[in-house]
Amino acid sequence: MTTSAALMWFRRDLRAIDNTALFQALQAHSRVVCVFVLDHLILAPLPDDDRRLAFIHAALQELDHSLQQHGGGLHAVQGNPAVEIPRLAQQFACDAVYCNRDYEPYARARDAQVAARLAAQGIAFQPCKDQVIFECDELLTGQGRPYTVFTPYMKAWRQRFSPALTQPRPAPLAGALALPPAQLRLPALADIGFANATVADLRLPTGRSGAQQLLQDFGDRLSHYKATRDFPAIKGVSYLSAHLRFGTLSIREAIALALQEESEGATCWLNELIWREFYQQLLWHFPHVASDSFKEQYRGLVFPGKEEWYAAWCQGRTGYPIVDAAMRQLNHSGYMHNRLRMIAASFLVKDLLIDWRRGEAYFAAKLLDFDLAANNGGWQWAASTGCDAQPYFRIFNPVSQSEKFDPEGKFIRRYVPELASLDDKAIHAPWLAKSLPAGFELGRDYPAPIVEHAEQRELALALFGRK
Ligand SMILES: Cc1cc2nc3c(=O)[nH]c(=O)nc-3n(C[C@H](O)[C@H](O)[C@H](O)COP(=O)(O)OP(=O)(O)OC[C@H]3O[C@@H](n4cnc5c(N)ncnc54)[C@H](O)[C@@H]3O)c2cc1C
Repeated sequence: MTTSAALMWFRRDLRAIDNTALFQALQAHSRVVCVFVLDHLILAPLPDDDRRLAFIHAALQELDHSLQQHGGGLHAVQGNPAVEIPRLAQQFACDAVYCNRDYEPYARARDAQVAARLAAQGIAFQPCKDQVIFECDELLTGQGRPYTVFTPYMKAWRQRFSPALTQPRPAPLAGALALPPAQLRLPALADIGFANATVADLRLPTGRSGAQQLLQDFGDRLSHYKATRDFPAIKGVSYLSAHLRFGTLSIREAIALALQEESEGATCWLNELIWREFYQQLLWHFPHVASDSFKEQYRGLVFPGKEEWYAAWCQGRTGYPIVDAAMRQLNHSGYMHNRLRMIAASFLVKDLLIDWRRGEAYFAAKLLDFDLAANNGGWQWAASTGCDAQPYFRIFNPVSQSEKFDPEGKFIRRYVPELASLDDKAIHAPWLAKSLPAGFELGRDYPAPIVEHAEQRELALALFGRK
C-alpha cells in the first residue's frame, strides 16, 4: 500500500461489502474517498415520484451508514459525472479513481470521457470487473467470436466457472475511509426535488439489508424455484432483480446461494443468472441492439398497430385479462413477473403489431429493476428480432397462457378486481363466457377485447414472414 489517496466512485454497486473496486482501492491506497454522483442527465427527465430514485436513495443511506461504521462516509455531489469526478479527484488529491465496470452504451461513453479528463490531470482510472462473473472478451466461441446463442454460452460459462469465483471481497479496512465534510453529505430526497413518500410505496425491502432479507427468504424456497417460477400468483421467484441491478446484492452472493444445494430449482436459478450475463455480454459486443433489432432482416420493419391500442396496453385495458393484470402490476408496483413480461411483450408486438421499442421504453420508464441489457434482451426475444429469440411463427395465445399459468385466475383477480366475480373459466376470456355474473356487463365494467387474437396472429405472421 502507498501513502496515497484514491476516489471510489459508486454507480450500480451500492454496497460496502463484497465490492471489488472498493476492495482494490483500499488495498492499494492509504485513504479512500467514497463518492456517488447524482447525475443530472439521468435525474432531469424523471418524474418527482420516481420509484427508482427512492430505491437508490434508500440504498445510498444504508451505504453511507455502512461506510460510517468503518470510519468513513459517502460523499454525494450533484451534476455531470464527467465534470464532477475529475474535479473531486483533484480536490481530494487522489492518484486514482476506482469504479466497477458498467457495460451500457451511456456508461461506456461517460467513463471514456472521465478517463480522458483524468488522464489529462495525471490521475489513473481503474475500472474493475464486479457485476458479472465473466465480462467482455472472457468468454468467446472457438472462433474467437461473441456468443449469440444462449445454450452454448451457458455451457461455456459453466465449464469456465469455479466456485472460487464467488469468493467475497474482504470488508473495508478500518481507518482508510475518508469522512465527508458537511456540504458533501447525502441530501434528503426532498432536497433534490423528489418525493419521499415513494420509498414506503415500493413494497420491496430496500438497501443492503433488504437484499439480504430477500436472499434469505428465497433460500428457503430455492428448491421449488423450477416448479413455481412460472406462476405469478405463487411466491416462486426471488424478487432480487432490483437489488442485482443496483448492486445492493453482489452477483457472487447470488451465485453462492445457487451453489448451496443440488436441486432442480438451484440449477434453474443459476441458469437465469447466466441469462443475465448473456444479455450483458451481448450489449457489450453489439451495442447497436440498444436502438435496433439484432437481426438485420427486421430493421426498418413498419408496425401498423394503432395508437389507441398502445394506450390501452399501457393502462391495462386491452380486454385480455392476463395482459391487463400484468400491466396493472407494473403500473402499481414497478415489478412484473417474468412470465407476464413475456406475455405482455408478445401481446404488444404480435397482437397489437406495435414496435417492440415502444414497449421496451415503457418498461424502462416503469420497472424498478430496469436494466438495459436484460430489458432489451427480453423485448428482442419476445419480438423475434433478437439473436436467440422466440421464432416469429411461435406466437403466444394470451388466453391459453392465462389458463396455463394462472389457472384459477388468482393473479387476475388481484390486479383486475372488476373481474373478481367471474368463474375460473370465464375470467381468462370473458367475451367467450356462456354466462356472466348478474350485474356484470362486458364493455361497461371491463373492456371488450380491443383486437381479435386469431386475426392479429395472421397479420403478425404475414408481417414477420415477409422478411
Ligand atoms: C420483456 C422483458 C423485459 C425484461 N426486463 C428486465 C429488466 O429490465 N431488468 C431485469 O433485471 N430483468 C428483466 N427481464 C428478465 C426477468 O423478467 C426479470 O429479471 C425477473 O422477472 C425479475 O424477477 P426476479 O428477480 O424475481 O427473478 P428470478 O426468477 O428470481 O431470477 C433471478 C435473477 O436472474 C436474472 N434474470 C432472470 N431472468 C432473466 C432474463 N430472462 N434475462 C436476464 N436476466 C434474468 C435477474 O437478475 C433476476 O433477478 C425482462 C424479461 C422480459 C421478457
